[in-house]
Amino acid sequence: SIPLGYFAGVGALSKQGVLVKGGNYLERLKNLDTVIFDKTGTLTEGVFEVVEIKTFNGFKKDEILKIAAYAEEHSNHPIAESIKKKFGKEINKNIIEDYEEISGHGIRAKIEGKEILVGNRKLMNKFKIKTPEINFSGTIVFVAIDGKFAGYIGISDKIKPGVKDVIKNLKNLGVKKTVMLTGDSEKVAQSVAKEIGIDEYYAELLPGDKVNFFEKFSEGVSTAFVGDGINDAPVLTRADVGIAMGGLGSDAAIEAADVVIMDDDISKLSDSMKISRKTLKITW
Ligand code: ADP
Ligand code: MG
Repeated sequence: SIPLGYFAGVGALSKQGVLVKGGNYLERLKNLDTVIFDKTGTLTEGVFEVVEIKTFNGFKKDEILKIAAYAEEHSNHPIAESIKKKFGKEINKNIIEDYEEISGHGIRAKIEGKEILVGNRKLMNKFKIKTPEINFSGTIVFVAIDGKFAGYIGISDKIKPGVKDVIKNLKNLGVKKTVMLTGDSEKVAQSVAKEIGIDEYYAELLPGDKVNFFEKFSEGVSTAFVGDGINDAPVLTRADVGIAMGGLGSDAAIEAADVVIMDDDISKLSDSMKISRKTLKITW
């Protein structure tokens, strides 16, 4: 029989704003064992907002915000965007003497003769900067000036509405395991994982680590990976079904994905599984 359901399914999903790049992916969507998610931009909005600035060692708030905004000038990471937005002033590019974005860590720059580091604790450790314990529940961006910890910028992101239900629905549809992979800190990852009820999470991963973890989890089981595309295109291509967020996601991700959720509405993930099951029953 001709699988008319394929056409019906792809059509029904496209009406929902979910693009499926072939009938075989519908078949795979029907029965998934494991669904692995990226955090930032996928489970969370990926729209960060500066909510706290604290200084140490005699530095001033204005000073570290300015330094951080200058360091982030060339970055389009959501964290960088939030810091530049908070700074809100024009940036004089002439005083940025040197600049390097270190994947999964942050920025190293030379600004007006000063050595600047802006990023996570991993970045501080890499450059042997001593940092105190900090009590902030969101993402912490550490700032160091000439080898000294100068303060931090506290940034918050929001969990997308409906994520908790999606995780529950996937379970009801027979998905055995849900996993979150993130480059963000253990603390942030733990609080998100707990709030949404995901089975397992792994934090502080570099983009290459995400590929290794994915391979570990996908062995012998049918696996979907859901990402926003910033740093996760290699995992999207390895998944049985690679699912990308089309709105925030990068062009590379949309290209690498098998399924694209155009409006980033994560609840369309479990809906898609349901639609694939319903429509694949139709034959003539
Ligand atoms: P994820 O999407 O999983 O959160 P990323 O690899 O994009 O992971 O980033 C991991 C971490 O690296 C971020 O949470 C942040 O701490 C740090 N980081 C990456 N890029 C920057 C940047 N431009 N400025 C500051 N911190 C950054
Ligand atoms: Mg991401």
